[in-house]
Amino acid sequence: MELKVLFVSPEVVPFAKSGGLADVAGSLPPALKRLGVDVRIVMPFYRSVKEGDFKSNVTKEKLATPIGKQMINARVRETRTLEDVPVYFLESEELFDRPNLYGSYVGDYYDNLERFTLLSRGALELALDLNFIPDIVHCHDWQTGIIPALLKGPYISKTEFAHTSTVFTIHNMGYQGNFPKEKLTATGLPVADFFHPEGLEYWGNISLLKSGIVYGDVITTVSPTYAQEIQTPDYGMGMEGVLQKRNDVLFGILNGIDYNVWNPEKDKHIIMSYNNKKKSGKKKCKEALIREMKLETAIKGKPLLGIISRLDSQKGFDILLSIIDKIIAMDTGLVLLGSGDPVMEKALKEAVNKFKGKIGIGTGFNDPLAHRIMAGADLFLIPSRYEPCGLTQMYALKYGTVPIVRATGGLNDTINDFDGEKGNGFKFHGYEPSSLLKTIEKAVTLFHSKATWKKLMSNGMKEDFSWDRSARRYLELYESMKRQK
Ligand code: ADP
Repeated sequence: MELKVLFVSPEVVPFAKSGGLADVAGSLPPALKRLGVDVRIVMPFYRSVKEGDFKSNVTKEKLATPIGKQMINARVRETRTLEDVPVYFLESEELFDRPNLYGSYVGDYYDNLERFTLLSRGALELALDLNFIPDIVHCHDWQTGIIPALLKGPYISKTEFAHTSTVFTIHNMGYQGNFPKEKLTATGLPVADFFHPEGLEYWGNISLLKSGIVYGDVITTVSPTYAQEIQTPDYGMGMEGVLQKRNDVLFGILNGIDYNVWNPEKDKHIIMSYNNKKKSGKKKCKEALIREMKLETAIKGKPLLGIISRLDSQKGFDILLSIIDKIIAMDTGLVLLGSGDPVMEKALKEAVNKFKGKIGIGTGFNDPLAHRIMAGADLFLIPSRYEPCGLTQMYALKYGTVPIVRATGGLNDTINDFDGEKGNGFKFHGYEPSSLLKTIEKAVTLFHSKATWKKLMSNGMKEDFSWDRSARRYLELYESMKRQK
């Protein structure tokens, strides 16, 4: 019988995105469908979805979902992805019709717990309402962390779910969904059963991430290296002990990428397509990027470094900015696209302003520019402090844009140091400006050895990080869980 998976995520490409989770939630379900899984997605009907160019049909006017003492009647809308995966949106003007997904730069929305309780409980209510009883509920990040707890608490009496298991996937330990303990009642989880150190209590508060880790039947994270790292104090962000306890059901499965979207052969955003056999288009893309970012034309023959990133302390901007003058002194160009906190955006602009002509900067979330940087740059920098999986290094490989990464998380699992023959990029270990600088020096020197550089580019362009392999790993996991239930 077909395996049924309810895929609950706060972000899904193309509907709503703030980071890599959205890419994953947009491409893993179609890959699972190709393997024969009956997978359906549930996500919030944010304002951005409402205002986006997506058609959806209202399939239910009122899906009653209790949030504390209140009953929220969410409207259910349905659409299909291009690959025909059903997507259910939960609509609540009161909770989801906001300018942003989670909050503004001033802070998170005060009622995020209620908002994502609606997503989590609403998903279970929807499954019952549709009579779509999943073998697996696949939950993503803290926003869905109460689902495993709900199934072990208030929903245990629902015999429909007797054979339903949960997978909880951690995309980033840095987002923990911590709230004051008084908020717990809104989730419907009984305080006595769940608010204790072995439960979702976290330093006197509640943590929805911890809830997912403690109550998920299986926990996954997005790369083998990150699965190990998060069990240590340096990367566990206080949850390393909890994760060690669940070590027997904790798996690292590397994310894949969508080569329909990130592929220089068919990228609609770039001036000229290219591939590993015929790379001449890349030169045109570089020239176009230099024009667009108003860099000196001489950079055509020099190494051009690119960065596309959320502006977050995770991403290594502190070590990068401390050596920016030395990077430019190596006779390079730099194109930077960063989005996030407007204060950080402004500070970044100020820091690089004195290098006009050498550094080009884009701010805000700009997907077409991200594609043009991928295609136009020669080198791609990811000096992250930590990186659960990272997608941009895999995109960069496909575009022949050689990654320079810190050896952490998925960056460590996907990039192998080039030894003149084998390898696809450059890796450094210590989180220090000097390590980053040395590695950039090495890369920039090699850039001028044209034949070797071509070999390095080709090694990367030949890599295959498509979703099919990772989706098969998830399927194996789902199937083994189903057998055990
Ligand atoms: P994270 O999830 O931590 O943000 P990932 O590397 O997993 O990091 O995913 C980042 C995704 O977001 C990539 O698809 C990248 O291209 C995109 N991205 C990041 N910043 C921007 C931006 N300013 N404009 C457009 N896309 C961006």
